[in-house]
Formats: sequence, C-alpha cells, structure tokens
Amino acid sequence: MLGAATWAAAHDELVRLLRDLIRIRSVNPPDPPGAETEAAEYLARLLRAEGLEPELVESVPGRGSVHVRLRGDGTGGGPFLLLSHHDVVPVDPSGWTHPPFDAVVADGYVWGRGAVDMKFMVAMEAMVVVLLARRARAAGLDPSREPIPGLRRDVLFTCTPDEEAGGTDGVMWLVEHRPDWLRADAAVNEAGAVSVDLAGRRFYPIMTAEKGRETYRIRVHGAWGHGSMPRDDNAAVLAAEAVRRLAIPGEPRLTGPIRALLDAVEAALPPDAAALARAIAADDPRRADAALSRLCDDMYARALRALLRDTISPGVIHAGIKYNIIPGEAVIEIDCRTLPGTTEGDMREEVLARLGDLAPRCDVEHVIGAPPVQWPASGDLYELLCDTVRAHDPDGVPVPVMAPFATDGKWTQLLGTPTYGFSPLRNEPGERFLERFHGQDERVGLEALRWGLPVLYDVVCGFCG
Ligand SMILES: [Zn+2]
Repeated sequence: MLGAATWAAAHDELVRLLRDLIRIRSVNPPDPPGAETEAAEYLARLLRAEGLEPELVESVPGRGSVHVRLRGDGTGGGPFLLLSHHDVVPVDPSGWTHPPFDAVVADGYVWGRGAVDMKFMVAMEAMVVVLLARRARAAGLDPSREPIPGLRRDVLFTCTPDEEAGGTDGVMWLVEHRPDWLRADAAVNEAGAVSVDLAGRRFYPIMTAEKGRETYRIRVHGAWGHGSMPRDDNAAVLAAEAVRRLAIPGEPRLTGPIRALLDAVEAALPPDAAALARAIAADDPRRADAALSRLCDDMYARALRALLRDTISPGVIHAGIKYNIIPGEAVIEIDCRTLPGTTEGDMREEVLARLGDLAPRCDVEHVIGAPPVQWPASGDLYELLCDTVRAHDPDGVPVPVMAPFATDGKWTQLLGTPTYGFSPLRNEPGERFLERFHGQDERVGLEALRWGLPVLYDVVCGFCG
C-alpha cells in the first residue's frame, strides 16, 4: 500500500512524463523521421534512472520499441503485459485551443496530440513500472535482476511505434522478432475502463473484444471522353453512385459481446432507461434504433450503431485529371469493420451485393484485413479488473464491451496473449472522450489521471501478487 503523499508525488510525475511524451512529435507517418525512436529512448532513460535495464530495438531506422521486464518470484504463473504504442496520428493545428505539441496544462486538462491516444496510458504504465522498481530499491534490491517484493509473476512493459498505421513496423514486427516481449498470460492495452455517464449511472466499459477490419480498393471502369459531351459511363458519376450505395447502413445483428454489454447496462439502469436498453437488444430494428437515440447522446449512439452491424465507410475517392476530360477510371477505398462471425468472404459478398448492377464495371481488390478478436468477459483477470474499478469508484459499473476499431490486440492474439482494453480514467460527465481520438483539442483530465494511476497499479499488484 502506498500512502497519500506517495500518490500525490506519483501524480505529479505522471503529468510531467505525459507532457514530455506529448512534446516528442512521434507522428505516424514519421514527420520528422526518428521521433518514434526518440520517444522510445525517452522511456528507456526514464526506466534506466530507476535502476532497470530496458531494451530498445528498431524495426527500421527511426522506429523504436522499448521493453523492460520486472521479475516476480515465478510462483504466480506467466507474465502480465503492459502494452502501449507511442506513435500518434498527424495533426492540423488550426482550430486547436492550445498548440498540439506544447503539452499545455490549462482548465484542469493536459492538452495535446496523443493525450488520449494513447500517451496518457503509456505514462501510466511506465509509472506503474517505476513504482514497482522503487519498491525493490526501497528493500535494498536490484530491480534489474532480483524479484520485486510481492510480485509472483513477471511484469512486462512493451511500448511500440507504428500502431496508427496498422503496426507493421511495430507490434507485428515484434511478434516475429521479439515474441518474448509480448507473450504473456494476459495483457492490458488502450481503450477501456474510461467512464461513460448514461442515464445518471457511471459505466466503465472494459474492452474484451474488437471488431475485425477489411479494406478494399475498388476500381470503377467507365469511358474517357470530351467534357463538352457528357456520358452516363463517366467513371466519376459511377463512383458517386457506388459510394452512395456502399454507405447505406447495413442490417443490425446482435453478437455475443454486445448482448453482454446491453444486459449489464440494463441491469444497472433505472426502469425507464433499462427499458430502452432492452429495446436495443430486441428484434425490431426500427424500435431498436429509436431506443438507441433516446438512451445515448449522438457520440455513443454512433459507436453503438457501429457495434450492431458490419460497417462500410468510404474513405478515398479519386477520379479525373482535368475538368474538361471525362474520367474513364475512378478509385474508391473503403474501410469495412466486421462483427464476430463475419468472414472476409462474407464482407466481399456484401460489397458486391451493394454495388449491384455496377459490379461488372468494378474490380474489387482486398488490400488488408484482420479478423475480430474476442476474449472472455469472465475469469480471474476480468473479475479483478471489475473489482478494482468498483473499489476505486463504488458507484461505478464495470461492463464488457467490444471496440468498433482495431488495436494492437489484433497482433498479440497471434501469440495467444489475452489483451483487454483497460486504461482507467474517471472523466467528468459530459467529457466527449471518444471524439478526442484523432480529433481536435485532444486532452485528458488531471483528476481523471489522478484516479486512474492507482487503479492500474492495483490491477498489476492484484494479478501478479
Ligand atoms: Zn491508439
């Protein structure tokens, strides 16, 4: 048990660490090159200063991962992994309240690119490692070689580059070259246990599953011609119609992870709101959608709608070379996110069905994909995650959830490491946290961080102790 003064000091250190990380412009695609290794080196220095011996590897020059292993006495089972990525998405600074790489502290928040996705969690995981190393040193032990007092399993800290572009030069590279950095009995990673206020209750959705992703490039073939004489087979016109058809929301389908979420939410809500949760899970799609709009604000409704169906989001449309030339070819790229049970073949069939009579004019190429991920919303670790949240917020309701997006958990799955989204934050009601991911004015609350660090620390000590 750490005292109040230790936690107050740890919070200050956490905020300093987060601000330093935000100031390192580890943007992906790299701009400037090398900043991802700079972030890894910064973390390695921090860990070295605590008497640890972190390792740093580059998959390609400038793209560094950092790793350290804290030893347990080995009587408690396999390692526990604290996983994270230190890269961030690019940013257009116009419209930000504070410059995105200045890490300004104002109005109770740390502002900056990566504050949410996911440098706050990098900083929390690193601080947990630091606190454990200090525990060893306080007992006169060398934390780089000797077991940390109280730990019965090893704790791994692994922070990677390139998550924001799919992880090829990050976690995927590590799966192949350093699987020992990722192989564990269980892992925690980004995007879970961040409070959500709904109908007067505070929920903590713990990510136990994530949707799959399939990306397609569609070449639409038309005919070239002179812009003075319009034609129906103008590839831009055909592509516009194709995009319209692709973007229509598909039929809802309730899968195991979302049924579990709705059941848990329903059980915690007052009767009126519980009836809405029940309607969302019922068979009538029109009633379900109306209930969804009434129960949630637009941000959560959008997420839940995405979790109730396979989605298709057109992201790129290219056609044409000059205004007076009718384009003979157009290219569309679509981002499809699949529910458990939907295969790549199913998704492709759906895309062709949507294209309908345009399909003969289209070449549909599969670019990249990964299947959905599912881990049990039960068992020792899951129960511990829930109990720890409740211990720190007695009014909080932990619930299992599926992420509509993909994380590095896609790749740790290849090594059989159950990876839960658990980056605990207790936000103010009304904080539009989901919209800050890759968005403008990314920021994380100081009080949310103050709540989150001891939660994560207790989970590590609980699972490994
Ligand atoms: Zn992320």
